Amino acid sequence: MSEPRAALWPWLEKPLEAALAQLSSHAALLHGPEGVGQFEFALALARAWLCESQPAGQAYAPACGRCASCRLIDAGSHPDLMVILPEALQASLGWQAAGEETDSGSEKSGKTKKLSQEIKVDAIRAVVQFSQNTASRGRAKVVLVHPAERMNLISANTLLKTLEEPPGQVRFVLSGATLDELLPTVRSRCQAWRLPLPAPDVAASWLQTQIQGVSPEDARILLDAAGGQPLTARDRHQLGLDARYWPQIPKDLLNGAATALTQWPLTLVVETLQKVCHDLACVAAGASPRYFPTHSLPAVTDLHLLTTWGQELRKTARHAEHPWNQNLKVEALLLQARAVMRPRPVRARPTA
Ligand SMILES: [Zn+2]
Repeated sequence: MSEPRAALWPWLEKPLEAALAQLSSHAALLHGPEGVGQFEFALALARAWLCESQPAGQAYAPACGRCASCRLIDAGSHPDLMVILPEALQASLGWQAAGEETDSGSEKSGKTKKLSQEIKVDAIRAVVQFSQNTASRGRAKVVLVHPAERMNLISANTLLKTLEEPPGQVRFVLSGATLDELLPTVRSRCQAWRLPLPAPDVAASWLQTQIQGVSPEDARILLDAAGGQPLTARDRHQLGLDARYWPQIPKDLLNGAATALTQWPLTLVVETLQKVCHDLACVAAGASPRYFPTHSLPAVTDLHLLTTWGQELRKTARHAEHPWNQNLKVEALLLQARAVMRPRPVRARPTA
Protein backbone atom coordinates (compact mmCIF):
# COMPACT_ATOMS: atom_id res chain seq x y z
CA MET A 1 0.00 0.00 0.00
CA SER A 2 1.74 3.09 -1.15
CA GLU A 3 -0.99 5.65 -0.53
CA PRO A 4 -0.29 7.96 2.37
CA ARG A 5 -2.54 7.37 5.31
CA ALA A 6 -4.21 10.70 4.88
CA ALA A 7 -5.51 9.87 1.41
CA LEU A 8 -9.15 8.98 1.46
CA TRP A 9 -10.68 7.00 -1.40
CA PRO A 10 -12.79 9.38 -3.49
CA TRP A 11 -16.08 7.56 -2.79
CA LEU A 12 -15.60 8.06 0.96
CA GLU A 13 -15.42 11.84 0.97
CA LYS A 14 -19.16 12.57 1.01
CA PRO A 15 -20.00 9.77 3.45
CA LEU A 16 -17.29 11.14 5.76
CA GLU A 17 -18.90 14.56 5.87
CA ALA A 18 -22.27 12.96 6.54
CA ALA A 19 -20.90 10.73 9.29
CA LEU A 20 -19.13 13.64 11.00
CA ALA A 21 -22.39 15.56 11.01
CA GLN A 22 -24.56 12.67 12.15
CA LEU A 23 -22.48 10.69 14.63
CA SER A 24 -23.25 12.07 18.03
CA SER A 25 -22.70 9.09 20.31
CA HIS A 26 -19.36 8.44 21.99
CA ALA A 27 -19.28 5.06 20.23
CA ALA A 28 -19.77 4.64 16.50
CA LEU A 29 -20.23 1.31 14.82
CA LEU A 30 -19.44 1.40 11.10
CA HIS A 31 -20.67 -1.46 9.03
CA GLY A 32 -21.25 -2.34 5.41
CA PRO A 33 -19.64 -4.31 2.62
CA GLU A 34 -15.98 -5.21 2.82
CA GLY A 35 -13.61 -3.84 0.23
CA VAL A 36 -14.79 -0.23 0.29
CA GLY A 37 -12.23 1.06 2.78
CA GLN A 38 -13.82 0.80 6.18
CA PHE A 39 -10.54 1.06 8.01
CA GLU A 40 -9.52 4.20 6.13
CA PHE A 41 -12.95 5.63 6.84
CA ALA A 42 -12.73 4.87 10.56
CA LEU A 43 -9.28 6.42 10.65
CA ALA A 44 -10.56 9.51 8.85
CA LEU A 45 -13.22 9.90 11.56
CA ALA A 46 -10.60 9.56 14.29
CA ARG A 47 -8.39 12.06 12.50
CA ALA A 48 -11.21 14.58 12.31
CA TRP A 49 -12.16 14.16 15.95
CA LEU A 50 -8.55 14.72 17.00
CA CYS A 51 -7.66 17.42 14.47
CA GLU A 52 -6.49 20.59 16.21
CA SER A 53 -7.72 22.93 13.48
CA GLN A 54 -11.40 22.18 14.02
CA PRO A 55 -13.38 25.41 14.29
CA ALA A 56 -14.73 25.74 17.82
CA GLY A 57 -18.44 25.31 18.40
CA GLN A 58 -19.20 23.97 14.94
CA ALA A 59 -19.82 20.54 13.50
CA TYR A 60 -16.70 18.51 12.79
CA ALA A 61 -15.09 18.98 9.40
CA PRO A 62 -12.72 16.44 7.80
CA ALA A 63 -9.21 16.69 9.28
CA CYS A 64 -6.94 19.47 8.02
CA GLY A 65 -3.98 17.18 7.34
CA ARG A 66 -1.48 19.83 8.46
CA CYS A 67 -1.80 20.34 12.21
CA ALA A 68 0.40 18.58 14.76
CA SER A 69 -2.32 16.05 15.53
CA CYS A 70 -2.84 15.12 11.88
CA ARG A 71 0.91 14.75 11.39
CA LEU A 72 1.23 12.55 14.47
CA ILE A 73 -1.53 10.28 13.18
CA ASP A 74 0.18 10.07 9.79
CA ALA A 75 3.37 9.06 11.57
CA GLY A 76 1.44 6.42 13.52
CA SER A 77 2.40 7.97 16.85
CA HIS A 78 -0.50 10.04 18.16
CA PRO A 79 -0.61 9.53 21.93
CA ASP A 80 -4.40 9.94 22.08
CA LEU A 81 -5.27 7.48 19.34
CA MET A 82 -5.31 3.76 19.90
CA VAL A 83 -5.79 1.52 16.88
CA ILE A 84 -6.63 -2.11 17.54
CA LEU A 85 -6.25 -4.55 14.65
CA PRO A 86 -5.63 -8.29 14.49
CA GLU A 87 -1.92 -8.95 13.94
CA ALA A 88 -2.69 -10.47 10.55
CA LEU A 89 -4.11 -7.19 9.23
CA GLN A 90 -1.55 -4.73 10.56
CA ALA A 91 0.87 -4.89 7.66
CA SER A 92 -1.72 -4.87 4.88
CA LEU A 93 -3.44 -1.85 6.39
CA GLY A 94 -0.13 -0.09 6.86
CA TRP A 95 -0.58 0.21 10.57
CA GLN A 96 1.63 -1.27 13.22
CA ALA A 97 0.31 -1.15 16.76
CA ALA A 98 2.44 0.94 19.10
CA GLY A 99 4.90 -1.16 21.06
CA GLU A 100 4.74 -4.03 18.61
CA GLU A 101 6.80 -2.59 15.86
CA THR A 102 9.79 -4.87 15.79
CA ASP A 103 9.71 -8.54 16.05
CA SER A 104 12.79 -8.20 13.94
CA GLY A 105 14.31 -11.52 14.90
CA SER A 106 11.65 -13.64 13.29
CA GLU A 107 11.15 -11.27 10.39
CA LYS A 108 14.79 -11.05 9.41
CA SER A 109 15.39 -14.75 9.65
CA GLY A 110 12.58 -15.14 7.14
CA LYS A 111 10.54 -17.29 9.47
CA THR A 112 6.90 -16.49 9.12
CA LYS A 113 5.25 -16.42 12.48
CA LYS A 114 1.58 -17.35 12.31
CA LEU A 115 -0.19 -14.05 12.79
CA SER A 116 -3.39 -13.95 14.75
CA GLN A 117 -6.68 -13.21 12.98
CA GLU A 118 -8.35 -12.35 16.27
CA ILE A 119 -8.43 -9.30 18.46
CA LYS A 120 -7.24 -10.69 21.73
CA VAL A 121 -8.18 -9.69 25.22
CA ASP A 122 -4.73 -8.24 25.98
CA ALA A 123 -5.30 -5.59 23.33
CA ILE A 124 -8.70 -4.75 24.81
CA ARG A 125 -7.25 -4.56 28.32
CA ALA A 126 -4.85 -1.97 26.94
CA VAL A 127 -7.88 -0.08 25.57
CA VAL A 128 -9.49 -0.05 29.00
CA GLN A 129 -6.26 1.30 30.51
CA PHE A 130 -5.87 3.88 27.73
CA SER A 131 -9.45 5.12 28.23
CA GLN A 132 -8.80 5.88 31.87
CA ASN A 133 -5.82 8.17 31.28
CA THR A 134 -6.36 11.82 30.45
CA ALA A 135 -5.70 12.94 26.90
CA SER A 136 -2.06 13.84 26.34
CA ARG A 137 -2.85 16.62 23.92
CA GLY A 138 -5.99 17.66 25.75
CA ARG A 139 -8.44 17.52 22.89
CA ALA A 140 -9.97 14.05 22.94
CA LYS A 141 -9.01 10.41 22.79
CA VAL A 142 -10.07 7.92 20.18
CA VAL A 143 -10.07 4.14 20.15
CA LEU A 144 -10.45 2.45 16.76
CA VAL A 145 -11.24 -1.26 16.65
CA HIS A 146 -11.23 -2.99 13.26
CA PRO A 147 -12.77 -5.38 12.32
CA ALA A 148 -14.94 -5.38 15.41
CA GLU A 149 -16.27 -8.89 14.74
CA ARG A 150 -12.77 -10.26 15.21
CA MET A 151 -12.97 -9.59 18.94
CA ASN A 152 -13.38 -12.94 20.60
CA LEU A 153 -16.02 -13.35 23.26
CA ILE A 154 -13.71 -12.47 26.13
CA SER A 155 -12.39 -9.40 24.31
CA ALA A 156 -15.88 -8.16 23.54
CA ASN A 157 -17.02 -8.66 27.10
CA THR A 158 -13.96 -6.87 28.40
CA LEU A 159 -14.77 -3.87 26.23
CA LEU A 160 -18.41 -3.71 27.31
CA LYS A 161 -18.02 -1.86 30.57
CA THR A 162 -15.84 0.84 29.04
CA LEU A 163 -18.29 1.21 26.15
CA GLU A 164 -21.13 1.51 28.60
CA GLU A 165 -19.58 4.07 30.92
CA PRO A 166 -16.81 5.67 28.95
CA PRO A 167 -14.50 8.01 30.81
CA GLY A 168 -15.21 11.58 29.63
CA GLN A 169 -12.95 12.27 26.69
CA VAL A 170 -12.98 8.96 24.85
CA ARG A 171 -14.69 8.25 21.57
CA PHE A 172 -14.85 4.82 20.03
CA VAL A 173 -15.11 3.82 16.42
CA LEU A 174 -15.73 0.15 15.79
CA SER A 175 -15.89 -1.00 12.21
CA GLY A 176 -16.78 -4.30 10.64
CA ALA A 177 -18.56 -5.97 7.80
CA THR A 178 -20.99 -8.16 9.66
CA LEU A 179 -22.96 -6.79 12.55
CA ASP A 180 -24.53 -10.20 13.10
CA GLU A 181 -21.28 -11.58 14.41
CA LEU A 182 -21.02 -8.92 17.07
CA LEU A 183 -22.38 -9.33 20.59
CA PRO A 184 -25.80 -7.66 20.77
CA THR A 185 -24.67 -5.97 23.98
CA VAL A 186 -21.79 -4.32 22.12
CA ARG A 187 -24.07 -3.34 19.23
CA SER A 188 -26.64 -1.77 21.47
CA ARG A 189 -24.07 0.55 23.04
CA CYS A 190 -23.04 2.04 19.72
CA GLN A 191 -24.55 4.31 17.13
CA ALA A 192 -24.62 2.25 13.95
CA TRP A 193 -23.60 3.89 10.72
CA ARG A 194 -23.72 2.13 7.37
CA LEU A 195 -21.00 2.77 4.85
CA PRO A 196 -22.57 2.47 1.37
CA LEU A 197 -21.14 0.84 -1.75
CA PRO A 198 -19.69 3.49 -4.04
CA ALA A 199 -21.52 4.51 -7.21
CA PRO A 200 -20.27 2.12 -9.92
CA ASP A 201 -18.98 4.87 -12.22
CA VAL A 202 -16.94 6.47 -9.42
CA ALA A 203 -15.50 3.10 -8.42
CA ALA A 204 -14.76 2.08 -12.01
CA SER A 205 -12.93 5.32 -12.81
CA TRP A 206 -10.87 4.90 -9.67
CA LEU A 207 -9.99 1.35 -10.72
CA GLN A 208 -8.69 2.73 -14.00
CA THR A 209 -6.23 4.87 -12.05
CA GLN A 210 -5.04 1.76 -10.19
CA ILE A 211 -4.65 -0.77 -12.97
CA GLN A 212 -2.41 0.24 -15.81
CA GLY A 213 -3.99 0.08 -19.25
CA VAL A 214 -7.37 -1.24 -18.14
CA SER A 215 -10.24 -0.14 -20.37
CA PRO A 216 -13.44 1.33 -18.92
CA GLU A 217 -15.31 -1.87 -19.93
CA ASP A 218 -12.75 -4.10 -18.24
CA ALA A 219 -12.76 -1.94 -15.13
CA ARG A 220 -16.50 -2.44 -14.98
CA ILE A 221 -16.16 -6.21 -15.36
CA LEU A 222 -13.61 -6.31 -12.52
CA LEU A 223 -15.85 -4.18 -10.37
CA ASP A 224 -18.88 -6.40 -10.98
CA ALA A 225 -16.72 -9.48 -10.31
CA ALA A 226 -15.96 -7.95 -6.91
CA GLY A 227 -19.62 -7.25 -6.14
CA GLY A 228 -19.09 -3.50 -6.58
CA GLN A 229 -16.25 -3.28 -4.03
CA PRO A 230 -13.39 -1.31 -5.61
CA LEU A 231 -10.61 -2.33 -3.20
CA THR A 232 -11.58 -5.98 -3.60
CA ALA A 233 -11.53 -5.55 -7.38
CA ARG A 234 -8.02 -4.13 -7.27
CA ASP A 235 -6.78 -6.89 -4.93
CA ARG A 236 -8.30 -9.70 -6.99
CA HIS A 237 -6.74 -8.27 -10.11
CA GLN A 238 -3.37 -8.37 -8.34
CA LEU A 239 -3.99 -12.02 -7.50
CA GLY A 240 -4.36 -12.85 -11.18
CA LEU A 241 -7.99 -12.21 -12.00
CA ASP A 242 -8.18 -10.96 -15.56
CA ALA A 243 -11.17 -8.98 -16.85
CA ARG A 244 -10.97 -10.60 -20.28
CA TYR A 245 -11.06 -14.06 -18.80
CA TRP A 246 -13.67 -13.57 -16.08
CA PRO A 247 -16.80 -13.83 -18.31
CA GLN A 248 -15.46 -17.07 -19.81
CA ILE A 249 -15.20 -18.84 -16.49
CA PRO A 250 -18.72 -20.29 -16.18
CA LYS A 251 -18.62 -21.90 -19.63
CA ASP A 252 -15.06 -23.09 -19.15
CA LEU A 253 -16.16 -24.77 -15.94
CA LEU A 254 -18.98 -26.48 -17.79
CA ASN A 255 -16.59 -27.67 -20.50
CA GLY A 256 -13.89 -28.81 -18.09
CA ALA A 257 -11.58 -26.17 -19.54
CA ALA A 258 -11.10 -23.84 -16.58
CA THR A 259 -7.44 -24.77 -16.20
CA ALA A 260 -6.45 -21.13 -15.57
CA LEU A 261 -8.02 -21.43 -12.14
CA THR A 262 -5.44 -24.02 -11.12
CA GLN A 263 -2.89 -21.17 -11.03
CA TRP A 264 -4.95 -19.15 -8.55
CA PRO A 265 -4.81 -19.26 -4.76
CA LEU A 266 -7.38 -21.69 -3.37
CA THR A 267 -9.31 -18.93 -1.59
CA LEU A 268 -9.82 -17.10 -4.88
CA VAL A 269 -10.94 -20.30 -6.62
CA VAL A 270 -13.51 -21.00 -3.91
CA GLU A 271 -14.73 -17.41 -3.92
CA THR A 272 -15.10 -17.52 -7.72
CA LEU A 273 -17.04 -20.78 -7.63
CA GLN A 274 -19.30 -19.30 -4.96
CA LYS A 275 -20.00 -16.38 -7.27
CA VAL A 276 -20.74 -18.69 -10.21
CA CYS A 277 -23.07 -20.69 -7.99
CA HIS A 278 -24.76 -17.54 -6.69
CA ASP A 279 -25.37 -16.18 -10.19
CA LEU A 280 -26.59 -19.51 -11.61
CA ALA A 281 -29.09 -19.67 -8.77
CA CYS A 282 -30.21 -16.07 -9.42
CA VAL A 283 -30.83 -16.80 -13.08
CA ALA A 284 -32.56 -20.11 -12.27
CA ALA A 285 -34.87 -18.19 -9.95
CA GLY A 286 -35.59 -15.51 -12.57
CA ALA A 287 -33.41 -12.78 -11.01
CA SER A 288 -30.44 -10.86 -12.45
CA PRO A 289 -26.94 -12.15 -11.83
CA ARG A 290 -24.58 -10.00 -9.80
CA TYR A 291 -21.01 -10.98 -10.64
CA PHE A 292 -21.10 -12.29 -14.22
CA PRO A 293 -22.74 -10.96 -17.39
CA THR A 294 -26.02 -12.81 -18.02
CA HIS A 295 -24.90 -14.13 -21.41
CA SER A 296 -21.86 -15.81 -19.85
CA LEU A 297 -23.93 -18.12 -17.66
CA PRO A 298 -25.03 -21.54 -18.91
CA ALA A 299 -28.57 -22.51 -17.97
CA VAL A 300 -28.72 -24.67 -14.87
CA THR A 301 -32.25 -25.22 -13.70
CA ASP A 302 -31.82 -27.51 -10.71
CA LEU A 303 -32.03 -25.08 -7.78
CA HIS A 304 -31.75 -27.88 -5.26
CA LEU A 305 -28.45 -28.98 -6.72
CA LEU A 306 -27.19 -25.40 -6.75
CA THR A 307 -28.18 -24.92 -3.12
CA THR A 308 -26.30 -28.04 -2.08
CA TRP A 309 -23.28 -26.95 -4.08
CA GLY A 310 -23.40 -23.52 -2.42
CA GLN A 311 -23.45 -25.10 1.03
CA GLU A 312 -20.46 -27.28 0.23
CA LEU A 313 -18.51 -24.30 -1.09
CA ARG A 314 -19.26 -22.35 2.08
CA LYS A 315 -17.89 -25.24 4.11
CA THR A 316 -14.71 -25.27 2.03
CA ALA A 317 -14.38 -21.50 2.37
CA ARG A 318 -14.61 -21.74 6.14
CA HIS A 319 -11.73 -24.21 6.16
CA ALA A 320 -9.53 -22.20 3.82
CA GLU A 321 -6.75 -22.38 6.42
CA HIS A 322 -6.76 -26.16 6.25
CA PRO A 323 -3.50 -27.48 4.77
CA TRP A 324 -5.15 -28.84 1.63
CA ASN A 325 -3.06 -30.14 -1.18
CA GLN A 326 -3.85 -27.09 -3.29
CA ASN A 327 -3.74 -28.81 -6.70
CA LEU A 328 -5.83 -31.79 -5.69
CA LYS A 329 -8.35 -29.59 -3.93
CA VAL A 330 -8.75 -27.24 -6.89
CA GLU A 331 -9.13 -30.17 -9.26
CA ALA A 332 -11.81 -31.70 -7.05
CA LEU A 333 -13.62 -28.37 -6.89
CA LEU A 334 -13.54 -27.98 -10.68
CA LEU A 335 -14.90 -31.51 -11.16
CA GLN A 336 -17.66 -30.77 -8.71
CA ALA A 337 -18.54 -27.54 -10.54
CA ARG A 338 -18.70 -29.39 -13.83
CA ALA A 339 -20.89 -32.10 -12.39
CA VAL A 340 -23.36 -29.50 -11.12
CA MET A 341 -23.46 -27.50 -14.34
CA ARG A 342 -23.60 -30.30 -16.87
CA PRO A 343 -27.01 -30.89 -18.40
CA ARG A 344 -28.30 -34.18 -17.04
CA PRO A 345 -30.60 -36.00 -19.46
CA VAL A 346 -32.46 -38.55 -17.37
CA ARG A 347 -30.64 -39.70 -14.29
CA ALA A 348 -27.44 -38.07 -13.20
CA ARG A 349 -24.34 -40.04 -12.53
CA PRO A 350 -22.19 -38.82 -9.66
CA THR A 351 -18.98 -37.76 -11.45
CA ALA A 352 -17.22 -38.16 -14.76
ZN1 LIG B 1 -5.49 18.60 11.60
